[in-house]
Amino acid sequence: MGKEMNAQTGLTTRIARWAKGKSAEEESSELSSDTGAREASRNGSSREVDRRRDLYNDVGSFIFAHDLDLTVVNFGLALDYLTGNDHQIEKAVRAILSEKGQLTNGVVEQIVAERHAGEMTAEGLSNMLSTVEEDLTRFTTLASESQASANDYGEALQAKVKDMGAESSPEKVVSALIGLTRSMVEKSRQIEAEMRESQKKTRALQQNLEQARKAAEQDHLTGLPNRRAFEARLKEEVTLAQANGESLSVAFCDIDHFKKINDTHGHDTGDRVLKFVGSLLAKISGEKCHVARHGGEEFVMVFRGKTAAEACEIVDQTRADLASRNLVDRNSGERMNQVSFSGGVADAFAYPDPRDALKAADQALYLAKEHGRNRVYMAKGSVAAD
Ligand code: GH3
Ligand code: MG
Ligand code: MG
Repeated sequence: MGKEMNAQTGLTTRIARWAKGKSAEEESSELSSDTGAREASRNGSSREVDRRRDLYNDVGSFIFAHDLDLTVVNFGLALDYLTGNDHQIEKAVRAILSEKGQLTNGVVEQIVAERHAGEMTAEGLSNMLSTVEEDLTRFTTLASESQASANDYGEALQAKVKDMGAESSPEKVVSALIGLTRSMVEKSRQIEAEMRESQKKTRALQQNLEQARKAAEQDHLTGLPNRRAFEARLKEEVTLAQANGESLSVAFCDIDHFKKINDTHGHDTGDRVLKFVGSLLAKISGEKCHVARHGGEEFVMVFRGKTAAEACEIVDQTRADLASRNLVDRNSGERMNQVSFSGGVADAFAYPDPRDALKAADQALYLAKEHGRNRVYMAKGSVAAD
C-alpha cells in the first residue's frame, strides 16, 4: 500500500543517511524536504508527515532497544510489529517479548522464516520440478518397456505360428501360446501397476503445485486473493481496460478502530470481523471487479468499466450495509458497537501509473479517516477526471 511503500522508501533513505554518518537531527530536518514529505504538505497533510516521522522514530527506537543489526529483515519486522500490518509477525514478536523480554537477530530471522514457511520458495519449487522430471522419465521408460514386451510377444507368437506347420503337435503349440500369453499378461499387469503408481505420484505432485500456487496467492484468513495476486490482477485489468477503452478505478478500504475491536472482544472475534467484512466486499466482485486483502484490516479493489464516481458509490453501498448491521460477539454473546470501514477511491488512468492511483486512493482513505471515518472519499485527481 502507499502508506507502507512511503514508509519503506523513507526507511531506505534513512539507512543511507545513517550510513553517511549524518546526525538524527539533520535527518529529521531533512525528512520534511524529501519528495514524499513535500507531496504530503502540498496536500495539506502535515499530520501525515508527523505520523510518518513518528513511525520512523519508533522503528529506529525498536531496533536500537533490541540491539538489532540494521538489516532489511530487522526493519521489516519492526515495521510489521509496530504497525500491526502483519498479524502473525505481531503475534510472534509479542510472544517472544513476553517470554524473554528481548529480541535477537537470530530470533528475528526465525520469526520471519516461519512466517513465510508456507510460501513457495525457489528451492521448494525446484525440488518439485525435479520430481516431476524424474517421474516423466520413469513414465517414458515404462511406456517403452510396455511397447518392447508387446513386440516380443508378437514376435514369439509369429515364431510359434510358423512352427505350427512343422514338427510340433497342435497341443504343444497351443500350450506354448497359452504360456506366452500368460507371461505377457503378467508383464502387462506389472507395467500397468507401475504406470498407475507413477500416475498417482504425478497427480499428487500436480495437487501440491496447485496448493503451493494457491497459498502464494491467497489470504489464509479470508480466502480472498492477497496483495501479490492483486498486483498481478491490476496489471491484467489495466491491459484489458486499455484494450477495450473502458474506465478503471481502484479502491482502498480500512476497518475503523479495528484495534479497539481486538482489544475489546479479542483477536478471534477480530478475525471473524475481518472475514465478515471480506465476505461483504467479495459480494461486489465479479468478472470486472476484484477484491483482495491487502494486509491487516485493509482491503483493495479494482473496478473495470466503472468511473471513480461509480466505484465510489458501489463501495459506499457496502459501507452502509456493514454500518447498518448489529454484529454479535460469538464468544460473549454481547452486541458489538457499530463496525464500519472507511474507503478511498481513485481513477486508475488519472495518474501516470496505476500504483500512483493506489496511493491517491490511500490518501483519500486517510482523509475519510480524518473526517470522522465510516465514509468513502474520492481522490482529488479522480474528481477532475470524471
Ligand atoms: P483506524 O480507524 O485509524 O484504521 O484505526 P485501527 O485501529 O483500525 O488501525 P490500526 O492500524 O491502529 O490497527 C490495526 C490493527 O489491526 C492492529 C493489528 O493488531 C490488527 N490486525 C492486523 N491484522 C489482523 C488479523 O489478521 N487479525 C486480527 N484480529 N487483527 C489484526
Ligand atoms: Mg490499517
Ligand atoms: Mg483500521
